[in-house]
Amino acid sequence: MGKALDYQQILDQLYNEIAVLDDPGELASYIPELSKVSTDKFGVSLISLNGEIYGAGDYQERFSIQSISKLYSLSLAYNICGEDLWSRVDVEPSGTSFNSLLQLEAENGIPRNPFLNSGALVICDVLLSKLDNPKQEMLDLLNQGVGSSDITFDTAVANSEKSVGWRNIALCNYIKSYGNIDNHPDDVLDLYFHLCAISMSCRELAQASLYLANNGIIPETQQRVNTISQTKRLNAIMQTCGFYDESGEFSFRVGLPGKSGVGGGIIAVFPTQYAIAVWSPRLNEKGNSFKGMNLLEQLTTITEASIF
Ligand code: GLN
Repeated sequence: MGKALDYQQILDQLYNEIAVLDDPGELASYIPELSKVSTDKFGVSLISLNGEIYGAGDYQERFSIQSISKLYSLSLAYNICGEDLWSRVDVEPSGTSFNSLLQLEAENGIPRNPFLNSGALVICDVLLSKLDNPKQEMLDLLNQGVGSSDITFDTAVANSEKSVGWRNIALCNYIKSYGNIDNHPDDVLDLYFHLCAISMSCRELAQASLYLANNGIIPETQQRVNTISQTKRLNAIMQTCGFYDESGEFSFRVGLPGKSGVGGGIIAVFPTQYAIAVWSPRLNEKGNSFKGMNLLEQLTTITEASIF
């Protein structure tokens, strides 16, 4: 890393430059509740492994984390199942959109990776089979990471997505037809919609993701979420699959493992250094935050530090 970095000054500078950019992105209006969010929202928070918290803009305001939750549900399922998990879901980039059905028929209902909706539905099925109360366990994991107790679901968002969830309903039933969903699809979908509807701020997301930069251990509590080997693999899957058919582009531009959501959030992790979360609700055509990607690209360029 070489030079000492003033992250607060860098975040302020990037925030000010990018906030005023013309943003060609669109809100994720296919989920009605998400189309109510103000398009001007923009925040970023970086938390270093030694606990320093930096932030700019709307970094303390909660928003719908959507597919970022797929990272934490995967952590939990991997912790419980170990390597057996990979008989249910693969670890290859798909090159498809997040809600694609395309590869499932040729691949016998085994989703390409756990960050596609199909893969995340299988992970929800695993959690339902293994845990008495998977919703609560997920909230506990996040609250422990953040040192809070009030991270929870936005039920209006969960219900809104359920009301238009035709594609996810189709995916879940289709995978079940191949025998790769054990529970009733209604229960799997209910868990999936709730996990997508968790509300967190950038500061909370950065804090909750720090274990991924710290060999699987939550720095604050020293609680182990994943083994060192599992943490390596979680970061590897983020690097190759975290942005669907834009995963190569994110890797190319930013050079950090990351995960996006259609609420406009992105988290990225620099192992041994920091976790960062950005939020700006306008999405590019691949469903990833336009300003969020821009900010992360400029951060790793200015600091001359990425994992590569
Ligand atoms: N809840 C969203 C969906 O299933 C999640 C997609 C995303 O954030 N990429 O469509």
